[in-house]
Amino acid sequence: MDLTEEIRARVCRRCDFYKEGETLECAAFKTAKRLVEQGKVSLDEI
Ligand code: SF4
Repeated sequence: MDLTEEIRARVCRRCDFYKEGETLECAAFKTAKRLVEQGKVSLDEI
């Protein structure tokens, strides 16, 4: 699973706005992804 899919599974599936097949990357999604990419938080800390 790539990082986008990991974030989708960990963040989007708990979001009230999530729809199956979600392809949007809202500000919260992008921020979470960037923090993981920069090593500031781990996937498990999200
Ligand atoms: S992209 Fe943003 S708004 Fe959409 S499901 Fe994920 S967290 Fe929610």
